[in-house]
Amino acid sequence: MIQIKIDGKNINARKGANLVDVALENGIYIPTLCYMKGQPCLGTCRVCSVKVGGTIAAACTVPVAHGMEVEVNEPEVKDMRKALVESLFAEGTHNCPSCEKSGRCDLQAVGYEVEMMVSRFEYRFTPRQKDYGSEKILLERDRCIFCQRCVEFVRDEETGKKIFSISGRGANSRIEINAELANKMTDEQVTRAVDLCPVGTIIEKKVGFNDPIGKRKFDIKSVRERALEGGDK
Ligand code: SF4
Repeated sequence: MIQIKIDGKNINARKGANLVDVALENGIYIPTLCYMKGQPCLGTCRVCSVKVGGTIAAACTVPVAHGMEVEVNEPEVKDMRKALVESLFAEGTHNCPSCEKSGRCDLQAVGYEVEMMVSRFEYRFTPRQKDYGSEKILLERDRCIFCQRCVEFVRDEETGKKIFSISGRGANSRIEINAELANKMTDEQVTRAVDLCPVGTIIEKKVGFNDPIGKRKFDIKSVRERALEGGDK
């Protein structure tokens, strides 16, 4: 065991444990979008940025070490996390009221957590063509935040091949789906892929708005409450 400090609080932790997990175990919520407990860290979204020894770092990429001093709720770093969330809203097209994932969307829930009202960045409304090509999945590409969860954690059960991938670079990036492999996905796999996507990009065909307002995941408990209780993914 080692000792670290988070926001001035002395904390005992297992050496090398993930900083996001250590903070949560001690009642301190750090927003995340790409990080999934128990899975390898992706470090793509940076929404969990904190200060470690005065330097900005994505908390999900930080293994804790003795004597580490971490600032989570310091004003500058809080605003940086808010700006990161705002930039994600500005980069894609996120019409929450008409999205099938509304109330179940991690990005929307984290937007509430960081108290975002409107993005400080210019909205790009990047046009990215939808993909209807597979039997069970609709890909709403313009909502993708390129977290890479689907790319890394959704695989063909027989061959282990990736079903999702990212093509292009920079502003021309887009999420792709291998329709042949996607058509072999079980219903459970499709549901898992929909749930794992932190936005409304991976949508199950013939299913939408199935949880009424008031009974949706984040209507019942906020993303902060769910994370502090151990998460659900
Ligand atoms: S489709 Fe969803 S899970 Fe896949 S990279 Fe985009 S946002 Fe992440």
